[in-house]
Amino acid sequence: MLYSDENRIEGIYNFCDRWCERCDFTARCEVYAREQAYNLEDSLDPMGDALQVVAESFAEAKAMLIDHAEEMGIDLDEAMNDPEVDEIIRRTREASESPPAVELAKQYALETRHILEKPEEWAGDPEEDPKILEALEVIQYYLFSVAVKVHSSYHAALDFEGYEDPEELNNTQSYANGTAKITLIIIERSISSWAYLRNESNAEILDPVIDRLKTIKQLLEEKYPNAREFIRPGFDEIEMVM
Ligand code: SF4
Repeated sequence: MLYSDENRIEGIYNFCDRWCERCDFTARCEVYAREQAYNLEDSLDPMGDALQVVAESFAEAKAMLIDHAEEMGIDLDEAMNDPEVDEIIRRTREASESPPAVELAKQYALETRHILEKPEEWAGDPEEDPKILEALEVIQYYLFSVAVKVHSSYHAALDFEGYEDPEELNNTQSYANGTAKITLIIIERSISSWAYLRNESNAEILDPVIDRLKTIKQLLEEKYPNAREFIRPGFDEIEMVM
C-alpha cells in the first residue's frame, strides 16, 4: 500500500518506537512518508540532506509558533525578556529533569553503552543462537530511547506554566499517558532482551543493568498508573484500521 492522506493514521508517529524498519504502518504514517520523500537512503550526501530536513522542520515549527502566538495576541520578543517566562522554563526543567526515573534512564544510556562495546566477552555465541543478535539489536536500538522517552513522559505531564497537569495524568487518552505507554513498552522490550542474554557467568555485569531498568519501569508505573489503558492510534486498534 502506498501512503495517501486517505489511509493516514493521524498522530500514529507520536506513540511509536521510531523503529520504522520494523513498523507495519509505514504506508499509513505521515512522518515516514515525509522522510521517504527526502530519499535519504539514496542520497549522495545523507548527513547534509538529513541536516537540511532537520533545518526545514525547525523552520516549519518556528513559523507555526509565530502564527500561533499572533493568533493568541502574544508578542514573542516581549515574552522572551519576561522574567515570568524564565521562571516557567526553570520550573519545567526542574519538573522534567530532576525525577529519579529521568536520572536513572540517563545513567542507563551512559553506563550501558560501555557494556555493549564488547558483547563477545559476555553475550554468548550468536552463531550458536541467532536470538542473541536479535536481543543485542533491540537493546542497542532502544539504548538512548529509554532516556529520551522517560524525559518526554515527565515533560508531557506539565501544563504551559511548568506545573503538573492532573488532567494529563488522569485522562487515559492524554498525550502524557500515551508517551508513558510507549516508554513502558520500550523498557519492557529492553528488559526481556537483557534477561534473554543473562546467564550465570554474566549475571554480575547484567543484573545491575536489569535492576536499573526495572526501577525506572516501577517509577514510571507509579507516576502513570493509567498509561497502559491508552489506546495508541494504529498499534492498539489494529482490527479497526487494517
Ligand atoms: S509509526 Fe512506524 S513508520 Fe511512523 S515513525 Fe513510527 S515507527 Fe516509523
